[in-house]
Amino acid sequence: MNLKGIQALVVGMKKSGVASAALLASQGARVRATDLKPLDELPGVRALNIPFTQQTPEVFQSADLIVLSPDVPADLAPLEEARRRGVPVIGDVELAAPFLKGRTIGITGSNGKTTTTSLMGHILRESGVPVQVGGNIGLPVTAMIDSSREDGWNVLELSSFQLETINEFRAHIALALNVTQNHLDRHHTFENYAAAKGRLFETQRAGDFAVLNADDAVCVAYAARSSATPQWFSSRRKVEPGATLCGDKLVLDGKLLMPAAEIPIRGRHNVENVLAASIAAARAGVSHAGIAAAVRTFRAVEHRLEFVRSLGGVEFYNDSKATSVDATLKAVDAFPGGLWVILGGKDKGLEYTALREPLAAKAHAALLIGAAAPKIAGQLQGAVPLIPAGTIEAAIAFAYAHAVPGDTVLLAPACASFDQFQSYEHRGQFFKQIVNQLQAKD
Ligand code: ADP
Repeated sequence: MNLKGIQALVVGMKKSGVASAALLASQGARVRATDLKPLDELPGVRALNIPFTQQTPEVFQSADLIVLSPDVPADLAPLEEARRRGVPVIGDVELAAPFLKGRTIGITGSNGKTTTTSLMGHILRESGVPVQVGGNIGLPVTAMIDSSREDGWNVLELSSFQLETINEFRAHIALALNVTQNHLDRHHTFENYAAAKGRLFETQRAGDFAVLNADDAVCVAYAARSSATPQWFSSRRKVEPGATLCGDKLVLDGKLLMPAAEIPIRGRHNVENVLAASIAAARAGVSHAGIAAAVRTFRAVEHRLEFVRSLGGVEFYNDSKATSVDATLKAVDAFPGGLWVILGGKDKGLEYTALREPLAAKAHAALLIGAAAPKIAGQLQGAVPLIPAGTIEAAIAFAYAHAVPGDTVLLAPACASFDQFQSYEHRGQFFKQIVNQLQAKD
């Protein structure tokens, strides 16, 4: 794409928009920026020294190219209108595609993207392969261009919003972990959402690899839409070519990779993430021994079933990212029992009854915090002892006071954080801070 002299509009001026605008300017485009927020709430924009207008429908007129940040809905009326005029409307990943050197691994899915992307980067790095990690986490892809290398890999976490508009962007190795109901507020239907993620496979070419979850019907269907060679993973059955959990061992391309017990991140869902990253790493040229050694030294991404500390035989885990009942179920499933589970926060309109059985089987008690506590109490009543703790501090104090060696205190709240915290990260950091201040019982 020749950007010299074209009128480009960047919509959404957080990290990704700022990086896109900088790339466009460096390519000689005449760049303007817009956002729903006023300029003084957008710290990155001023330094760019480009015209900024707070968003109105008029802003979208007279642009030759519109670049959207991932959090801007692609179906805003003025965008539809621009498309009708023949104006390309693309995301940051598509914008970056022609400039990114080296080969690319693209990772998508409803759950597990960040963990698998980080693990993928870790395996390649530990194997001595030049690699950089970014996309939907850390560095936006438009900020990874200068540091990309012909002999290196770009490992990218990609959301459905970023994939929706790709055409030229191509992943040499593309991964789909799973596709479940998500972001329907933006994509309207499950089919649209699945199709947006499917673009990752449609832009691949012969000789590329599509790493797909063999147990997920949507992922399986991506194989037929791709020119890439499918590679499968499954935690339930033998698949070829690919990676499988056979009993308690991971098998990659028909050969033992490692015992599942050596994976340092907990839960079956993380076994799936390891299986997926392992095939991708193998196709990128890493040996079985190299993959297994790197997996053994991987540590959980912050706030995702993150081990915090062991005190007097009691372990503390921070899964503040578990903001849905589904994620909490996965967290509970990852432990054999002896749990003190901290639940609650801002209710997202979910049903909590699915937690009754697993908590009855594995938990000493559920400690309820935040605004959702009364609703959760109503739905879990009688299944498990309920402690109305109110705050995380009180929940930790109660759980630790009553826990015995071998027990686990788990923050996996099944709710958003915004009633008591700024974000799930803030909640997780607060949990860790309080846990790290705990004094041993005498
Ligand atoms: P994402 O970036 O897609 O949100 P994360 O790696 O941040 O994914 O994980 C978020 C949560 O999703 C985890 O806490 C866990 O509950 C769940 N999860 C992770 N991996 C998987 C998987 N492979 N399948 C299902 N759920 C998963």
